[in-house]
Amino acid sequence: MSTISISSTSVGSGTDDLGWIQTGLPTPTTLLSTNIDAASRTATGPVASHSPITFEDTSAHGLEQFWDDWVGPVQEPPITTVPLPPQPYPLPVGPPPLYPDFYTIPPKDILPGYKFPSDFLFGWATAAQQWEGAVKADGKGPTIWDWASRFPGFIADNTTSDVGDLGYYLYKEDIARLAAVGGNVYSFTLFWTRIYPWALANTPLNQAGVDHYRDVIDYAWSQGVEPVVTLFHWDTPLAAQLAYGGFASERIVDDFVNYAETVFKAYNGSVHKWVTFNEPVMAAPVNSTLPPGLNSTVYPYTCSYNLVLAHAKTVHRFRELNIQGEIAFKSDNFLGVPWRSDNTTDQEATERHAQYQIGIFAEPIYNTGDWPELIKNDLSPEILPRFNQSQIDYIRGTADFFAIDGYRDGYVTAPPNGIDACRTNISDPNWPVCNVKEWTSSLTFLSFFDSTPFGWGIGDFADPKVPWLQNTWQFVRPFLADLVKRYPTKGGIYLSEFGFAEPYENEKQFIYQVTEDAGRTAYYMSYLGEVLKGIVDDGIPIKGTFAWSLVDNFEWNSGFSTRFGTQYVDYNSPTLARTFKRSILSMGQFWNAHRCDTDSGN
Ligand code: BGC
Repeated sequence: MSTISISSTSVGSGTDDLGWIQTGLPTPTTLLSTNIDAASRTATGPVASHSPITFEDTSAHGLEQFWDDWVGPVQEPPITTVPLPPQPYPLPVGPPPLYPDFYTIPPKDILPGYKFPSDFLFGWATAAQQWEGAVKADGKGPTIWDWASRFPGFIADNTTSDVGDLGYYLYKEDIARLAAVGGNVYSFTLFWTRIYPWALANTPLNQAGVDHYRDVIDYAWSQGVEPVVTLFHWDTPLAAQLAYGGFASERIVDDFVNYAETVFKAYNGSVHKWVTFNEPVMAAPVNSTLPPGLNSTVYPYTCSYNLVLAHAKTVHRFRELNIQGEIAFKSDNFLGVPWRSDNTTDQEATERHAQYQIGIFAEPIYNTGDWPELIKNDLSPEILPRFNQSQIDYIRGTADFFAIDGYRDGYVTAPPNGIDACRTNISDPNWPVCNVKEWTSSLTFLSFFDSTPFGWGIGDFADPKVPWLQNTWQFVRPFLADLVKRYPTKGGIYLSEFGFAEPYENEKQFIYQVTEDAGRTAYYMSYLGEVLKGIVDDGIPIKGTFAWSLVDNFEWNSGFSTRFGTQYVDYNSPTLARTFKRSILSMGQFWNAHRCDTDSGN
């Protein structure tokens, strides 16, 4: 058995024989007490109506008061300095083969002769709210998640992201580890409220936030890693939410553009790929208060309208300011596969899925400047606000590449009562999309092939707490090819997030069990192989893959109860020690054997 000497030693955890050390249950640290104070003061709950609130005192003292009034005590970070990782960063000896090679070939031997293009970006992703922690440090303002996670039960395990992975201080460690396995890109997101704690355009800038992200960007380049920067990953500033309902108000547009401009000017030249919004379909309804006058039917579409305008205006400013590089937003979800391929109703239902999940933002931004016709036919202007002609001209073409968070694809069929009966009945449980997907309905059989009575899955299932996720490697190439056809750009397409929650990972008792993430490894090897074939065999212009995620992290409403990391984080360790799992080492081996600058005999 080889001895492993890595990483966590560099941040002083003292665990230098990782992979074979018993650390007890990998449970995260929960907040000592749920913030009953904040809950009683807001008296709203995470989703509720409230009157607009104005903020008079935007000084440091006023910010402290804001935290105190609305969020309450925040868990202190266990580390408040930035440890310097060792260079070169020591990698463990890789694990032994999991299976005989007549069954599963080693990563380096997959697809011999296939190479990635020379400019391919191969790396990992994180998001500020899920990874940074230190949520109150150095003048940061609160987000809706800092606030809502205080409500008992809102997060499955009643944790908060107060500490998270402490990426705010451990970013050098994390980037050095990414570089050590061979990655050449790190996709991360900025907390809007680290830059503008109050979010609103006429409120003070937090220079410490600007300086911090400059350090992250510079450090990434120093490690040979390109930083890809996303401006917004669901971390709506609490002040914007309380002042005017966040994305429910058009006021968000200018506040977002003001923030974006600051960031563009600060890092111009140091960032070559920019992303405005992560997965806007998810951004609107996540955990928001409903401003007066909006109900939950109209709300997501009002938010979508404002978000498209915010994106478009941001990209116009980007171009007017001559900021270097390319810009786009990240779509998510899947286009879908008709459950019965020759059934026209299933085909129609699948197209509805594609339009409501991806087309709703992609169609205006990449193609027509306007909502998809299919959606306009369903939703009246009272529900989905319409763009006028000058807005349409303004929105069209505001993206330079396509980015898809393409975790999986799936079967879609028509609802049992038929599409038309559903479309015209706002009370239908499937309205307005009016189809049935494998994971949203009680008709769970859709997860399965229809060609067998035995109910086989499409592929390996992820953790039962993540029922939407399967390893659907079969669909990777057709899915990416279809997206490129529907939304062509000069900049090609990125698989900007993809990942797998290893079944029962959080219930495992020993690190050596957690690091053997065989299901996640199989997911990544099959997806990456399909990507490589997609490039070489099919000619799909795939420009990069950013795996989700670099490390375990705060999984939104699931808290720390599910893990998506390709590295384990020991939340009980005072240094939040990281441990490489099999998956990240296998990915590194795969990439190093197939990058175009290596001659591995492949
Ligand atoms: C989101 C991540 C999330 C991941 C796994 C992605 O769609 O962008 O924030 O952690 O899914 O659920």
